[in-house]
Amino acid sequence: MPGHAYHTRKKKHDFEASKLIHNSSQGIVFPDWEVVTLFYSALHYVDCHLDRAQSIHPIGHGDRKDYVMNLLPVIERDYRLLRALSEDARYHDVSVQQPELTRATRCYDQIRHRLTPVTCAGCGQENLINKGKCEICEAPL
Ligand SMILES: [Zn+2]
Repeated sequence: MPGHAYHTRKKKHDFEASKLIHNSSQGIVFPDWEVVTLFYSALHYVDCHLDRAQSIHPIGHGDRKDYVMNLLPVIERDYRLLRALSEDARYHDVSVQQPELTRATRCYDQIRHRLTPVTCAGCGQENLINKGKCEICEAPL
């Protein structure tokens, strides 16, 4: 079963792929594949968090969606939008261009920010979800 180390590697790898696609095409040729790679990076942020926080390993997108809804409401909207944009890019005959990429990037940045663990300067507690303030002492993060 893929674990924390794998997801940590993959979330970086998939993000680097999106940057590579962007830089090699000036961001105008493959916005659809940038969206797809951003989505997969976000997916590994989610799986990384679920593994670390609760030893949960989602099986497929539907399963993961349920966990996000129930356990990660702080990113639910962004994850849902990013997933929908990546499905448009992969499966649907709709245009995925710069405006969609901008929206996807905004969702991705939020997910990455929220699911990057941060240690509280006040009490030293590691917060696995960044909700803006420490879950223990409520100091701003
Ligand atoms: Zn604290």
